Amino acid sequence: MLSILQKGQADTAMIYADNAATTKMSKAAIEAMLPFFDTLYGNPGSPHEAGRRAQEALWHAREQIAAVLHCSAKQIYFTSGGSEADNQALCSAAAIGERSGKRHIISTAIEHPAVLKPLEQLKKRGFDITLLPVHADGIVRPAELIAAIRPDTALVSVMYANNEIGTIQPVQEIGALCRERGILFHSDAVQAAGQLPVNIPRDGIDLLALSAHKFHGPKGIGVLYADVNAPLKSLILGGEQERGRRAGTENVAAIAGMAAALAEANASLDRSHKHLSILRERMLTGLLAIPGTRINGSLTKRLPGNINISFEGIEAELLLLLLSEHGICASSGSACASGSMEPSHVLLALGLSPTEARGALRLTLSGETTEDEADQIVCAVSECVSRLRNA
Ligand SMILES: *Cc1c(COP(=O)(O)O)cnc(C)c1O
Repeated sequence: MLSILQKGQADTAMIYADNAATTKMSKAAIEAMLPFFDTLYGNPGSPHEAGRRAQEALWHAREQIAAVLHCSAKQIYFTSGGSEADNQALCSAAAIGERSGKRHIISTAIEHPAVLKPLEQLKKRGFDITLLPVHADGIVRPAELIAAIRPDTALVSVMYANNEIGTIQPVQEIGALCRERGILFHSDAVQAAGQLPVNIPRDGIDLLALSAHKFHGPKGIGVLYADVNAPLKSLILGGEQERGRRAGTENVAAIAGMAAALAEANASLDRSHKHLSILRERMLTGLLAIPGTRINGSLTKRLPGNINISFEGIEAELLLLLLSEHGICASSGSACASGSMEPSHVLLALGLSPTEARGALRLTLSGETTEDEADQIVCAVSECVSRLRNA
């Protein structure tokens, strides 16, 4: 174990291009966390000075996050991450629907497993689930959503931006049409937060999930946004933390780190958008010069740091192995799907064949990715693809 750690520290040649899987913590996030390991160690639930200070830190973090999302601090509930927030949102919305006899839920074929798996479970409990298709560009059509709506539709769940292909969904339009019809709207904004200007009232969102480690905050902490009057269903039972919506002593350090990371990412949205767009253009020019390539998903309605590209006749798993010899960390789709040889459900939903889907490489950049690194990645990919094709 120690040798792994030492090796990791010594390995300065690593190029990290897997920021949709997780990100490096920002200095601001680390600094915001440190006091809570040392001087500010009180339990926010304790009715004394140490507790009061921790409670104050929680509310400060809620204010910071609420300012970014354009909502009220009281509507911010802390969870253990994006998965828990998605699970709680879906279970709560299902329970609300059930009370008025509404057992139909609409979502999409390209959601993260943190949405798809709870939906599978709801289906077993008698809910009717419609998964909207996406077009070849990886984007849901609002007209198709309208056509799928029924009198018993309780919830629409559409992700803000996709984790594999980075496509951005027409959230604002979907929010408006749900609102007109009195249907709850949940959006998994885990990939969007810190990269896009998420605005809850503008977007018409009722339930929203965030995860800190996708925007340079710590792992194991996230947010569920919900109205103060929304009857959220607790997944974890116990104490009265989070106004009775989520039991368990809050991870104050991680919460402070998350808020600092989000505030920082949001303050530099335009700058990082520009930086990432330039880098991606540069890389695409190089990558598309490789014969037999295709970009998966829309290039315009897309997170600026996402490249998802298939190479004809190539197994991405093999390509990843060769790339790792060059010190490059990338992905073959979603981290959850890699390791298994199952083709990505997202790429299949775009209409790729299983073979084409297995040839897809996901490169996700961050504000820290340099031009030099981008060039090295392109060089290594070209070289590895021709090595595999000539093997
Ligand atoms: C990473 C991710 C999640 C899960 O978040 P965790 O904090 O890792 O549980 C959910 N949805 C999307 C789109 C993600 O990218």
